[in-house]
Amino acid sequence: GVPITLHLIFFQAVASPPSSNFLLLGPSGAGKTAFTTLLEAKSSPASKKSQSTHTSQQSTLVTVSLPPDVPTASNRYRSVNDPSLKEAARNPIKYRVRDTPGHGKLRVSQGLSELQAMAQSKDIKTRLRGVVFMVDTAALVGEATLRDTATYLHDVLLVLQKRAKNGSSSKRTSEIPVLVAANKQDLFTALPPGSVKEKLEAEIDRIRKSKNKGLLDASADSTLDDDEEILGNDDLESFSFKLLEHEVGVKVEVVGGAVKGDQQEEYGSGVRRWEEWIGMCL
Ligand code: GDP
Repeated sequence: GVPITLHLIFFQAVASPPSSNFLLLGPSGAGKTAFTTLLEAKSSPASKKSQSTHTSQQSTLVTVSLPPDVPTASNRYRSVNDPSLKEAARNPIKYRVRDTPGHGKLRVSQGLSELQAMAQSKDIKTRLRGVVFMVDTAALVGEATLRDTATYLHDVLLVLQKRAKNGSSSKRTSEIPVLVAANKQDLFTALPPGSVKEKLEAEIDRIRKSKNKGLLDASADSTLDDDEEILGNDDLESFSFKLLEHEVGVKVEVVGGAVKGDQQEEYGSGVRRWEEWIGMCL
């Protein structure tokens, strides 16, 4: 029976592809390609440095593994002496990351439509576990970059809000969470994650208010598109990620890190805390 058992194990490994998908979004230059390349390199340390030739023109899908010492939602109470840790080292948990281009035009056609398709998918193989929205925290001091970034994030959150509102209330727990990966914390010009959060919230609030005003003006001549929706609630309360979580159930977390400084404690622990966020979605 041994050969048959081995055969079955092998077959299972091949037949059940990893089904935890994460979508990587964010403006061009934020570090998305660098992040996926790093994850790939960390997943296969034996092979020589990843030769990925990711272009920024189309999206790529990579399968990577979670470091064995990063807890997942299902094993977070595991002790360090747990034998399953050794097992995890031998057989790491895998997940898939889809990297998308971030340029203005491509963003709408690829990033957002990719999100729409994945967010609606009921197929377990393409089901979306979470969105990682990457930002360059050094570039965010520029007004134009802040507006551009906040507009993109606003549009992403609106897609997730529409999905949440269309779903049945029993699926409340399956809302897709968003990690705002506050990248490039190694640069001394970088904004700390707390102020990245404040700036994005304030800018999204502005976007939302001007959209609301536009809708009110438009409703006067009754050409209102009923697909139009306001992020969060329609009240005058200012926008915050807390509000969105409370009103819609979509969770947004801003966590600092650096693709460049990975493995160097002083840079917000590299990408470690993003991997921990991913682990909690698995
Ligand atoms: P993408 O357009 O979002 O895919 O961005 P890229 O991955 O191409 O990165 C844009 C630039 O930022 C590249 O020159 C990267 O080397 C650089 N970069 C990425 N992550 C970091 C980081 O954590 N720190 C610093 N200093 N530079 C980074």
